[in-house]
Amino acid sequence: MKTGKMIAETLRRIVYPPRCLLCGNLLDFRAESPLCENCRPERYLPAEPRCYICSRPIGQAGDRCPGCRNHQSRIRGRGTFVYDGAVLESVHAVKDSGMKAYIAGYAELMIRYDGPFWRGQGQFFLVPVPVHARRLRERGYNQAGILAEELAKRLVVPVWDGLERAEETRALRGQGAKSRRDSLAHAFSVNREIPRPQGMAVIVDDIYTSGATVESCAKAILEAYPDQEIRFWTFSIRT
Ligand SMILES: [Zn+2]
Ligand SMILES: [Zn+2]
Repeated sequence: MKTGKMIAETLRRIVYPPRCLLCGNLLDFRAESPLCENCRPERYLPAEPRCYICSRPIGQAGDRCPGCRNHQSRIRGRGTFVYDGAVLESVHAVKDSGMKAYIAGYAELMIRYDGPFWRGQGQFFLVPVPVHARRLRERGYNQAGILAEELAKRLVVPVWDGLERAEETRALRGQGAKSRRDSLAHAFSVNREIPRPQGMAVIVDDIYTSGATVESCAKAILEAYPDQEIRFWTFSIRT
């Protein structure tokens, strides 16, 4: 960096101290990491070996996690971090306390750790998991939508908003895998008037839990476009 730029950046950091991308803690203005001491991202990276479908750590012989074996999940993808500790608290803050400012940080971190993987996948576009209109009014934003935009900006790939929430689903938190699947069976539909970009569709969300949401999104996309190749990419994955 040029000296002038460095001085400007230092002044900016003193006036607007950087905050941890996960927990929002103030960072030292000289900080080089975007995360505070408590939130070292490496500790939340899923351990190998991982399920070849959902990327969850499996910690045993075999290629798929029990969830993917039992539910015959077919949509492959990656969750960048394990849903635990600071990651879990951060996702809750975004969902429940209006901390949408964290989402740009999620995109930074996702690209830092999983960007090389996706860049090796050829042409693709991002599909945010839509929220129901009532939830959107309550929260004021769709965190998956913002996440997809933040990722797209940095990766220079298109976002496709052709996936829509078809009907209201009961809050999924706390439901078992089977009932999540039942409530989501017809939750999404495709708006064919929104042109679909070329390449693989990558469904984007803040968290991957049972895989039911991703499967349901994929089902709707495949009903409209049977030959569409589909993957998913979430900020976090529940283990
Ligand atoms: Zn932190
Ligand atoms: Zn799995």
